[in-house]
Amino acid sequence: MQGIGEQLLEKGIPVSFSEPMRLHTTLRLGGNADVFVQPESEAQLETALRLIHASGEKLTVIGHGSNLLVRDGGIRGVVLMPRLCTYAFEGDCLIAGAGCMLHTLSEAAAAKGLAGLAFASGIPGTLGGAVFMNAGAYGGEIGDLFVSAVAYTVLGERVTLTKEEMAFSYRKSGLQESGAVLSKVCLQLTPGKEEAIRAEMAELAIKRRDKQPLNFPSAGSTFKRPENAFAAQLIDHCGLRGTWVGGAQVSEKHAGFLLNRSGTSKDFLDLMALVEKTVYEKTGIRLESEVRILGEDE
Ligand SMILES: Cc1cc2nc3c(=O)[nH]c(=O)nc-3n(C[C@H](O)[C@H](O)[C@H](O)COP(=O)(O)OP(=O)(O)OC[C@H]3O[C@@H](n4cnc5c(N)ncnc54)[C@H](O)[C@@H]3O)c2cc1C
Repeated sequence: MQGIGEQLLEKGIPVSFSEPMRLHTTLRLGGNADVFVQPESEAQLETALRLIHASGEKLTVIGHGSNLLVRDGGIRGVVLMPRLCTYAFEGDCLIAGAGCMLHTLSEAAAAKGLAGLAFASGIPGTLGGAVFMNAGAYGGEIGDLFVSAVAYTVLGERVTLTKEEMAFSYRKSGLQESGAVLSKVCLQLTPGKEEAIRAEMAELAIKRRDKQPLNFPSAGSTFKRPENAFAAQLIDHCGLRGTWVGGAQVSEKHAGFLLNRSGTSKDFLDLMALVEKTVYEKTGIRLESEVRILGEDE
């Protein structure tokens, strides 16, 4: 019986084997994925999902890996990264492949004189990952713009998802339960002036550069915002700013960012555990990981 990787290759779908996940995560950490597949069209995505389901192999979906920590032992089964990167405008709507990067879409919308996406221009992920996470910044969230999406179930069945079905809330979407794989998303933008949109994007980029440690590998804010508090403030007040575990460090610049300074995923997880424990002991507040943790220990 042929392995799933060979079956996918036979269908002309790009596949690699023992793919280092540190190459596909902004944290630059993680062991290898057994099989790494990058469908480049909806048809390839559908075929890949059907074959993976029939093979019984475990499926893991990733976008740009900007909110992921992959453990040092890597990921068994198949990792699927949809490379659906085309987009078009229909009136004030943007219809884009889930693999499009947010900064590309923000730029394109600005050039069209369509406002709404400036908040997302500095979030270093794909549209698919942003919808899954309901990514947000500076008062905007992707769920605010979402109209509908085309997705595939893990069985490879095509479905249309409405805003109601997505049930967006803080860093949450219905996809986190359903496991559907997004292929295409429709966002509602509003007419604006290119100059004003670009000025807003530039202002937000400066804010990010001033506040965030963008020169070291991270997955952004490691923890979700607890109710009535800010994770970074709690971490700072507990004296953890700058703390190291192995090669992982709480950022000196922004205590909500945990950094990979030359460590392993284990170092990063141990630092997360230390931060969670200390903050709980000193404040009674439990921090919850915003970063999604995948794979196996070494
Ligand atoms: C420097 C830095 C700054 C950041 N700033 C912000 C910020 O301001 N606001 C914010 O919200 N986040 C921020 N992040 C976190 C991250 O960029 C967002 O969560 C982003 O939306 C993740 O997108 P991604 O494509 O990288 O997804 P990944 O990290 O690859 O995946 C995240 C989740 O999305 C799922 N997913 C990805 N693609 C699909 C798809 N096509 N179909 C179904 N599921 C899919 C994956 O299964 C995974 O569970 C930051 C990260 C970094 C490194």
